[in-house]
Amino acid sequence: MPRPYNFSAGPAMLPEAVLEQAKAEMLDWRGSGMSVMEMSHRGKEYVSIAEQAEADLRELLAIPTNYKALFLQGGASSQFAAVPMNLLRGKTKADYLNTGMWSKKAIAEAKKFCQVNVVASSESVNFTTVPARETWKCDADAAYLHYTPNETIGGVELHTVPEVGVPLAADFSSTLLSRPIDVSPFGILYAGAQKNIGPAGLSIVIVREDLLGQTVAGTPTMLDYAVMAKEGSMYNTPPTYAWYIAGLVFQWMKAQGGLAVIGERNRAKAELLYQTIDQSGFYKNPVDPAYRSWMNVPFTLPDAALDKAFLAEAKSAGLLTLAGHRSVGGMRASLYNAMPLAGVQALVNFMADFQKRRG
Ligand SMILES: *Cc1c(COP(=O)(O)O)cnc(C)c1O
Repeated sequence: MPRPYNFSAGPAMLPEAVLEQAKAEMLDWRGSGMSVMEMSHRGKEYVSIAEQAEADLRELLAIPTNYKALFLQGGASSQFAAVPMNLLRGKTKADYLNTGMWSKKAIAEAKKFCQVNVVASSESVNFTTVPARETWKCDADAAYLHYTPNETIGGVELHTVPEVGVPLAADFSSTLLSRPIDVSPFGILYAGAQKNIGPAGLSIVIVREDLLGQTVAGTPTMLDYAVMAKEGSMYNTPPTYAWYIAGLVFQWMKAQGGLAVIGERNRAKAELLYQTIDQSGFYKNPVDPAYRSWMNVPFTLPDAALDKAFLAEAKSAGLLTLAGHRSVGGMRASLYNAMPLAGVQALVNFMADFQKRRG
């Protein structure tokens, strides 16, 4: 039996080859006599795993040498606090773009540390678009501008990197490694691993070196990027197993041909699903086509009373976790890297069949 296709928004599907490798190495990692879970993070075996993962991440994203790549804990949500603590650097204001639920959470947290200037918001249109760059009201005294390139709940993605006069800070949780990006316009970008990278418990932070070392007074050591950078993300015990699995995912991605190949696949997967929705006259996606996410595709049925049957029948057809976020309802299909095109084909076939029977 093939495994079902899992459309969860996170924690999400991992490449089957990675799970198989982890299984094969579970009891004895490469003759070490230990599971990776049982290794000292300071031992030479684990250090080699950690270093290889960082090297592969740097290669995949072509991270410039003046950026640190950190492997931290606390999820993206901890970075909502760590970003102002590290990046304010003596300033008292920061710019934030509000494009959805995750932007709002980042804004609420930043307000504990500084004056937040919301440069623009799409809340009045239910977060179905991204305000055009020309309309943003930036503050010349802002220490940085924060935005969320992909809103996981709304399914809204800004496909270009905005030009601003201050360091860019970005929550890439659900889109990092889904396609090539240029790291150099960013002061910092970060992501929780459980969407597109690996297991929960690991967060990736990529931050420009010259921004470090000027934290606000009282910053906890664990949230001080300069400390984490100096200690190679091992000030304390890092999330060793999650880091190892992320490393296997990076190897898998390289074997696929890297981010250019993976990005093309992701574009094709998203196009197939949006086309199916738009041409159905049955399913609907509310997002402005220019800002539709490649990773998270929310859609509704004409009558919410059909939702339960859709979900139950999808599950029987081997299509899991399609319920929309509890705040928006309907359906949501997340199409992260590990979701093959065959999974999206199975989904659109099921959708057409369901429509025929129930439409
Ligand atoms: C999931 C998600 C978060 C929260 O991540 P945690 O790791 O659970 O803290 C933040 N931002 C975005 C865009 C997300 O998708």
